[in-house]
Amino acid sequence: MNIATPSSKKAVVIGAGFGGIALAIRLQSAGFQTTLLEKRDKPGGRAYVYEDKGFTFDAGPTVITDPSALEELFELSGRKMEDYVTLLPVDPLYRLEWEDGTSFNYTNDSDELFRQINKLNPKDVDGYKRFLDYSRDLMEEGYIKLGHVPFLNFRSMIKAAPQLARLQAWRSVYSKVSSFVEDEHLRQAFSFHSLLVGGNPFETSAIYALIHALEREWGVWFAKGGTGALVSGMLDLFRDLGGELYLNADVAEITTSGTKTTGVTLKDGTHFVADMVASNADVVHTYEKMLGHTDRGRKEAARLKSKRFSMSLFVIYFGASKPYEDIQHHTVIFGPRYRELIGEIFKGKELADDFSLYLHAPTRTDPSLAPEGHGCFYVLSPVPHLGHADIDWDVEGPKYRDRILGYLDKNYMPGLMNNLVTTRHFTPNDFREELNSYNGSAFSLEPVLTQSAWFRSHNRDDKLEGMYIVGAGTHPGAGIPGVVGSAKATARIVLEDFDMEPVA
Ligand SMILES: Cc1cc2nc3c(=O)[nH]c(=O)nc-3n(C[C@H](O)[C@H](O)[C@H](O)COP(=O)(O)OP(=O)(O)OC[C@H]3O[C@@H](n4cnc5c(N)ncnc54)[C@H](O)[C@@H]3O)c2cc1C
Repeated sequence: MNIATPSSKKAVVIGAGFGGIALAIRLQSAGFQTTLLEKRDKPGGRAYVYEDKGFTFDAGPTVITDPSALEELFELSGRKMEDYVTLLPVDPLYRLEWEDGTSFNYTNDSDELFRQINKLNPKDVDGYKRFLDYSRDLMEEGYIKLGHVPFLNFRSMIKAAPQLARLQAWRSVYSKVSSFVEDEHLRQAFSFHSLLVGGNPFETSAIYALIHALEREWGVWFAKGGTGALVSGMLDLFRDLGGELYLNADVAEITTSGTKTTGVTLKDGTHFVADMVASNADVVHTYEKMLGHTDRGRKEAARLKSKRFSMSLFVIYFGASKPYEDIQHHTVIFGPRYRELIGEIFKGKELADDFSLYLHAPTRTDPSLAPEGHGCFYVLSPVPHLGHADIDWDVEGPKYRDRILGYLDKNYMPGLMNNLVTTRHFTPNDFREELNSYNGSAFSLEPVLTQSAWFRSHNRDDKLEGMYIVGAGTHPGAGIPGVVGSAKATARIVLEDFDMEPVA
């Protein structure tokens, strides 16, 4: 087993989201004595778990793609992911539903995809093949080559520019998809993915069309026992390597001496001395609250606050006395409007009357997540963040929940209102209060080209020695593959800065 010999160097990682845990594993594997500090009573961040009346609800990420990025974390210390967690394949990858009655089984079987595309518009089969080639090209350039590179200076951006220009990265995902396929259902089917990482398909760089190739290449997976089991498996690995996790550890301040980072202090006064600190918490929160005692913290927080933030989400977790076996594991339900609704979600001042939904039905893949004969679900609706729409969620939340559940009852899950065993919901206020997210944004900085790579918060702070960032707010961005990639980019600079060798 090739774990590096422990050095006397101490690392603190703030926040046990996927990015924080992945970085903590990398640092501990490389020989840092690493402490992971999480403010909540359970780890996972957006991937928190609620347990209620025999149901297990994953709070956030459910679509896992590129498992190789996760396997790599175990292989760093010569271990195997399958000894810690089992990933199950999900097929179809998604079911897509429209109000005009059109359904599309978005599968990884090419012939089946061609057949369904042909049914919608025969000319689009060739267009789709060209789109897939384009998406694969994007994946190679944008994910495989650049997804783990820390963009610390403008030169690194200039170096990537010719490829970005060749792939027309300045165009939006929707505009690029529309250059390949004509049918509006297909345009939506191949452009909605940027929403999964907080990007508006009409404004986000076409680079994000790479998610399609990522899913076609590696498929879509779900952890046995839920995403929470993946979080637990990663933390078991971290502890087996000698790392320490503290829950209910709310960091108040990152301490500094001059321009050097020296450790962190919790709200209860406990102090941890460290040679380096990495924050997986929201980037505005990190600079404004934890580093607000420094000139650098105040200036960087003000700069970040002027940026665009991704939308928020309204999520309802519900258990039903019926399994609703016709519902696929992942269903995207498009509402009557696409472009207009998305415009209102990203910039609107109030809640729209209509909605588009993502419905999660994990018991389809793993029945152990609900009592026998029952079904475990969550449904999410993208909504404006609190900086745009000052909605009183204490009042609107229960009404919005009933509207959405009523809509599901009427259109997809007959009798649902009478079959509910438990419900709870999570609003933009909760993103702000529970997760310290600026404006209650669900995915941090909006992934537009002018806020990507070098233009995003840097993986290493520009001014404070020993201060690093990991997670959705830094390069490459949100989503599990994104934040796990950010951990690789951040670990790479840390190990260079401390003259330490990455373990193979
Ligand atoms: C509902 C939902 C569904 C999603 N679905 C998918 C999906 O299917 N697939 C996918 O790939 N991605 C999905 N995403 C996106 C993905 O979940 C996130 O981008 C990713 O998990 C963010 O990880 P992160 O490392 O940035 O940290 P986060 O998960 O944001 O965690 C940050 C942690 O820092 C902690 N923290 C904050 N302040 C402090 C403090 N002062 N002291 C100590 N700790 C602190 C927080 O409590 C939190 O635990 C989804 C997101 C949401 C919200």
